[in-house]
Amino acid sequence: LRNQIVAMQSLWIEKKLEVDFDIPELKVFADESLMSQVWSNLFANAIKYNRMNGTITVRGFEVDDDVEIVISNSGAGIPQNDLPHIFERFYRVEKARTRTTESYGLGLAVVKRIIELHNGGISVTSVERQETVFMVRLAKQGNL
Ligand code: ATP
Ligand code: MG
Repeated sequence: LRNQIVAMQSLWIEKKLEVDFDIPELKVFADESLMSQVWSNLFANAIKYNRMNGTITVRGFEVDDDVEIVISNSGAGIPQNDLPHIFERFYRVEKARTRTTESYGLGLAVVKRIIELHNGGISVTSVERQETVFMVRLAKQGNL
């Protein structure tokens, strides 16, 4: 996640975002290259659906035998009606909201499947016109 944040630095600097990153060294039982796809999809969304001069906050915690990563971003938020659908493939909240033509609404569908492959969980909450928060849960150890 640290690496993805650095790799996308030019994108968030361009939008004048304030990125507040604070996660301890956490070990999770997960495929590194698949997880790097998860973090880059989530972080790319946090930039793409943010506003100018907005904020992104990343936190990590240990919760019992799990690790929880929380990524919050300011911006338009996601309407309550759309929230149950955003992990569906090809689902995008508002086609007009982003001008990018390379968006397919696949990012979160991929993220969810990768997390499920690891027996983890992902959830989202959002306050319209304020912020969106994604929470990822992964086990520290795999079950033998
Ligand atoms: P792709 O990731 O395939 O380029 P996408 O970003 O549109 O396209 P998803 O990443 O699956 O697709 O996200 C689905 C929709 O959920 C987005 O179109 C956007 O409307 C909404 N969304 C996702 N992440 C956020 C976020 N952090 N803040 C606000 N809205 C979001
Ligand atoms: Mg996306």
